[in-house]
Amino acid sequence: MYANVRRKSPETDIVAHKFALQRRVWPANLRARMRGFPDPIAYPGVSTQRAAPAPPESAMIFETLSRTGHEQVVFCHNADAGLKAIIAIHNTVLGPALGGTRMWNYASDEEALNDVLRLSRGMTYKAAVSGLNLGGGKAVIWGDPNKDKSEALFRAFGRFVNSLNGRYITAEDVGIDVNDMEYVLKETEFVTGVHQVHGGSGDPSPFTAYGTLQGLMAAMNVKHGHEEVGKLSFAVQGVGHVGMEFVKLLRERGAKVYVTDINQKAVARAVEEFGCEAVGLDEIYDVPADVFSPTALGGTLNEKTIDRIKAGIICGAANNQLATDAIGDELHRRGVLYAPDYAVNAGGLMNVSLEIDGYNRERAMRMMRTIYYNLGRIFEISARDNIPTYKAADRMAEERIVAIGKVKLPHMGNSAPRFLGRMRNG
Ligand code: NAD
Repeated sequence: MYANVRRKSPETDIVAHKFALQRRVWPANLRARMRGFPDPIAYPGVSTQRAAPAPPESAMIFETLSRTGHEQVVFCHNADAGLKAIIAIHNTVLGPALGGTRMWNYASDEEALNDVLRLSRGMTYKAAVSGLNLGGGKAVIWGDPNKDKSEALFRAFGRFVNSLNGRYITAEDVGIDVNDMEYVLKETEFVTGVHQVHGGSGDPSPFTAYGTLQGLMAAMNVKHGHEEVGKLSFAVQGVGHVGMEFVKLLRERGAKVYVTDINQKAVARAVEEFGCEAVGLDEIYDVPADVFSPTALGGTLNEKTIDRIKAGIICGAANNQLATDAIGDELHRRGVLYAPDYAVNAGGLMNVSLEIDGYNRERAMRMMRTIYYNLGRIFEISARDNIPTYKAADRMAEERIVAIGKVKLPHMGNSAPRFLGRMRNG
């Protein structure tokens, strides 16, 4: 049921349909349906600026949702607060959908919708493969994080999150920081990643880095039969929040580490503080390292780069590292051990998830160790079935969703209706 939901991008359909709407060259069947659609009626206080009529577009959206498997997509609008946001809940079989809110100046509403659909689906897989009792969801706020932030915007957004009554729990993502989340927290309890003073877990990056180290050790065990990080060399692409913590952990264990980043200050810090060797942005693909660690952006494992990467292990924290599934297939064919990104970088999600039951740092550190075992299991499935590791991770996630979904049946009666107001005696 879930096997066909991943990486089949909904982009093409939605974007193509938008172009059709803009040029008013609707497909014949849609044009036929549009005939007889009433003109906007002027109600007091209600805008008559109804641009494109809804039915054709929503028809395409439902087609997309049925392909991606999303349960619910909520469009949130508050003109006074300047809020345009979308919350996408992909799958809640395992639990409430937890995923961050991204603030980005999208070029169009299609781009925002595509992004939230793609990201929320990824969260379902990440939570499932990590053994968490969480579903997958994500939100996007359309706006410029440098100009458009306000208390009203985040409180308006928080009210929409609250209206979902815990089906969606939010957190920080690109463009959002802990201060923004404090405004969201004023309107809803369904928010994680808040400041420690509010019982939150703070910055997840050190946990993500530590979790990545666990995944790395599982990969080393398979590839080299040992977990002595100091015996290997590393090419780390990106030394931001996670990357810097990651190189620190590698250097503490005595590894040789090459780093690159577009931010020269970050590179200088990695060299001066942690003793890494700086290389150019493009040069990182050619260095003679045992492990290549994408820790900046997605898509850097592509047809132009994989011929240049000499490493036998690819393990880093960046999301969506494989440009396409075919790259994952090719790495498998070449015998390069790829540690699937969403399984390796789940430390941040694990950490914020603990806020739901009351955050505890010790528990969080213990939980990171599960990444080692999860990766071990993924590598086992990959070897047993001779399939690429990214497919093994997908399979593990999908099997868990299906199995746990069945455990939840039949209904056990503990949330039975109370029949208030009925009298059985007299
Ligand atoms: P960040 O923005 O702090 O760091 C990213 C770094 O990559 C920056 O220093 C940036 O200058 C650099 N960079 C950008 N383009 C580059 C390029 N072409 N070449 C080299 N360097 C480049 O982000 P982060 O929080 O450290 O996250 C890094 C990656 O890990 C992202 O893909 C993120 O989605 C993923 N991730 C992060 C967390 C977390 O806890 N922060 C959790 C899961 C996944």
